Amino acid sequence: DSTRVINLSAGPCSLPELVLQEASRGLLNFNGTGIGIAEISHRSPEFVAYINDVASMIRIELDVPPTHHILFAQGGGALQFSTVVLNLLARHRLLHPDLLDSERVMDYVLTGWFSDMALNEANRMGGGRTNVVVDARLYSSCGKFDNIPSHEAYRFSPDPALIFYCENETVDGVQFSDSTDTTSFPFHLLPQGKGPLPLVADYSSSFMSRPIPHLADHAVIFASAQKNIGPAGLTVLIVRHDCLVDSDAAAKLGAASIPYTLMYKTLADNGSLFNTPSVFAIYVTGLVIRRLRDLGGVVYIDAVNKRKAERLYAVIRDGEAKGVLRARVAEGKGRSLMNVVFDFYDSEVQERFVSNGEACGIKGIRGHPLVKGTRLSIYNAVTEDQVNTVVAYMRDFLAQHS
Ligand code: PMP
Repeated sequence: DSTRVINLSAGPCSLPELVLQEASRGLLNFNGTGIGIAEISHRSPEFVAYINDVASMIRIELDVPPTHHILFAQGGGALQFSTVVLNLLARHRLLHPDLLDSERVMDYVLTGWFSDMALNEANRMGGGRTNVVVDARLYSSCGKFDNIPSHEAYRFSPDPALIFYCENETVDGVQFSDSTDTTSFPFHLLPQGKGPLPLVADYSSSFMSRPIPHLADHAVIFASAQKNIGPAGLTVLIVRHDCLVDSDAAAKLGAASIPYTLMYKTLADNGSLFNTPSVFAIYVTGLVIRRLRDLGGVVYIDAVNKRKAERLYAVIRDGEAKGVLRARVAEGKGRSLMNVVFDFYDSEVQERFVSNGEACGIKGIRGHPLVKGTRLSIYNAVTEDQVNTVVAYMRDFLAQHS
């Protein structure tokens, strides 16, 4: 469709065009039922089969073991910041009923805007206290979230109620590496010997962009759909069975009551159909994941995503050599493959980069209002051809401005 532009927004973002065409047919008639997907009952056999199929595709693509449930929720990644606290504090309460709230510790790994938001939410919740495992700003030359600290910096608590990290920081453009270098998540340093780890990961902006390292060691992985896999309105959860906690039993011991819609156990007991789920978002997500599977799955898209990011960082290197701009995250410090963030030294040049880009059909590249700069988000549906067009635009722009 030639009316469409290159959309590098941080989310919602591009979805595959073929999927959008199929979804428009599904809006009129879902899987031959004669009823559109936004009109059909979530309890119809056709939709129940569909939602189960989406869960099994995710299970197969990410190699999710039988110990973990795949659940569909609403409220976005942001609601999970409090939801994981409620569920995992209740779990901890059942395991250790005699501890004082001040002895119930939640560990936070601070690497950017979203993990900081999660920490703030936990601090508002009560029922436990937080501990900052590491604050990446202390390892930055300018006090910013611009790096993944190396492994020596992490200080986990001995028996925390949860350990939170954000795999890809969408605003700041930092991401844990998937290799075993010092910018990978330090799984080897996690407290051992106290039963299954309460490890929580926010994968909102990197879910299904590549395989998830150590997936089986996680208690909860959550992701809002609107970056890599679908429209806003759906949150995908991968929850280990020991985190399906009975809120009423924990409440008898003093834990906060968890609303039914936020209890992982309720979602699991009802096949994610306790109340009406985001039917349309689940539908489109299913189409996206099926297409990803047919293309070669997360291993295939991982290779594509690495090539895309490498091309953009290569032009950024040229811009740095010319003294025009600077990558927010230095090489080897945990650069994101999803959100490529950089700053022009001259703010007028920066503005021109954004407005000329829009005039050329490259949209959504202004940095987050809080951190400013330029951000190119290259989620799964952004194609290599589109990235090549962006690279050509950047090269031209740099030639004119150096
Ligand atoms: N975590 C991360 C890493 C995100 O990128 C976002 C959304 N930008 C959120 C959480 C919040 O998700 P939502 O807006 O769906 O609540």
